[in-house]
Amino acid sequence: MKQFQITYKTDKSFIKELDEINKWRSDNPSYATIFHIYSEDMEEAHIKHVCDIIDEKMPDAQYLGCTSNANILGGAWENAKIIMNCTVCEYPTTQAKIVQMPFSQETLKEDVRRLKEYCEDNPWVKAVEIHATVIGMPIREFCEELSTLRRDIQVFGGGACVPNMDNKESFVFSKGNKFSKASVVFLLAGGSDFHAYSTFISGWRPLKRKFKVTKSQGQILYELDGQPAFDIYKKFLKVDRNAKLVSNTLEFPLFMDHNGIDVQRCLWSVGDDDSIIMVADMTEATDVRFAYGDPQTILSSIRRDGQTIADFRPDIIQIFSCASRKAFWGNENISDETILFNSVAPSSGFYTSGEFLRVNGDVCNFNTTLVLAAMREGEPKKEVVNLYDTKLDNIESDKIPLISRLVSFIDAFTAELEELNAKLKQASITDGLTRLYNRAEIERRIRNAVEQRAPKENLALIMFDIDNFKSINDVYGHKEGDKVIIALSDILIRETSGSFSYLGRWGGEEFMVLLPGQDINEAAKLAEKIRKEFASISYDAAGPQTVSVGVVQAKHGENADALYVRVDKALYKAKANGKNQVVTM
Ligand code: GH3
Ligand code: MG
Ligand code: MG
Repeated sequence: MKQFQITYKTDKSFIKELDEINKWRSDNPSYATIFHIYSEDMEEAHIKHVCDIIDEKMPDAQYLGCTSNANILGGAWENAKIIMNCTVCEYPTTQAKIVQMPFSQETLKEDVRRLKEYCEDNPWVKAVEIHATVIGMPIREFCEELSTLRRDIQVFGGGACVPNMDNKESFVFSKGNKFSKASVVFLLAGGSDFHAYSTFISGWRPLKRKFKVTKSQGQILYELDGQPAFDIYKKFLKVDRNAKLVSNTLEFPLFMDHNGIDVQRCLWSVGDDDSIIMVADMTEATDVRFAYGDPQTILSSIRRDGQTIADFRPDIIQIFSCASRKAFWGNENISDETILFNSVAPSSGFYTSGEFLRVNGDVCNFNTTLVLAAMREGEPKKEVVNLYDTKLDNIESDKIPLISRLVSFIDAFTAELEELNAKLKQASITDGLTRLYNRAEIERRIRNAVEQRAPKENLALIMFDIDNFKSINDVYGHKEGDKVIIALSDILIRETSGSFSYLGRWGGEEFMVLLPGQDINEAAKLAEKIRKEFASISYDAAGPQTVSVGVVQAKHGENADALYVRVDKALYKAKANGKNQVVTM
């Protein structure tokens, strides 16, 4: 396939270029001809005018396109408002078909089903390219439906965007169809001599600190770690509601796992309730992390991950790059990350509001990524270009960028804090003398176990109280008393090590053992074993000691407080009966 790249300047210059393409087409074997049109110009009439000229000069050509954040031609950002690439197929076997459909929850399933059937009936289809209006659309459902397409079909594309992020009125269009603010345009391509390969590159790296998506619905992110999502943005990114909010957060997308693939999500707007509308859906209960970009890391990833595109030796490359990447690099440097692909094949495309790509069968919607679709007819024509040989000014120095060093500082600091936090948490629930759970924690565990117990599930509780303990303290001293306490807790740990049990120090010389799944007989047997073992130890000063034990099994509908009263009664009975015994109740 041969590609012509055009910037629309004037009718005259445009017509001249179309005439040249027509001349080439008559001089060379040429078949299906497709234009991709990308426009930063939001005036529908201006784009329509361009389409009319194509219709007139090249009536057999097909076209599709959308509004964009910015345009890419020759692997570089192109300042012209309307750009085009015109791909001329050189093989008669290559086919292309454009389909436009409305993007609505109601019709989506039906429409994608029809597309799927078409692909089943037409084995020539090898690639499905998407141009869609994405904001506010049921993107997750759309991707899920598309994931059911014949497995061997490559799916890639981008969301229509706008040059100014505050204007959200993007649209798509295609030949013979209306311009639409809520549509998907598919370009189906394939044939026996047509080959496609697509991949994505991010280069953004997640920071260590994790947040849990505690509440979300579709694209609306309500809560992170149980707090209003926007509070987290305000606190960590220092942003606020103002005209620059989107651009200020674009460089820090949320990084999350989606079916085993790392995807990123950018903020789109903030609701009155401090919820956030993201550019694509957020999965509830997943962990997210803020990701950051630094030029050197990004360019290294481009060379590493982009090499597969070069290895494919394509005739043309379609680029769908996120508008956030443009915001990140700025006009000065934005072309650094795409220009090297133009040394592989003519590369063009646009800056999107979300990239589509099928990865391992799943069609995903990405933000902050660079999706590259490489296409070729017949056998490769050129030698493989080694992207590592292409010089990029930004990554030649050995100096680690400031942001990388700051991030590594933050990550190291976060790791230290997390470790300290874990230690503190452990300390806050542990009894210092015995290392068992402290009173508050064992109470919490008992309460949870009682509340969450299934109707027929057994649950037993044992309470231990060392006999005449006060006199050990009084006669032999506190230290000797501690030894006795530790001896009992050691026995408890040893005797329960093989079961799902919870051990806690209830008071000075009182202990609780919670046994989920065990009935009163099993618990009593264990209690008796522990009582005997404890009684068999003789302490240097204090000699042998004994313990009294109460054992109960939770009754249907009984709450934790009632259970405590009963276990305490059982223990009291053991004391009253002469101590050193187990009483069940
Ligand atoms: P009974 O047989 O009826 O249980 O009598 P008792 O003496 O064991 O009962 P009481 O509850 O009167 O005594 C408990 C004592 O435990 C009182 C308190 O000084 C002591 N104690 C509480 N915590 C600790 C501790 O951490 N170490 C030591 N050595 N003694 C403690
Ligand atoms: Mg006591
Ligand atoms: Mg006691």
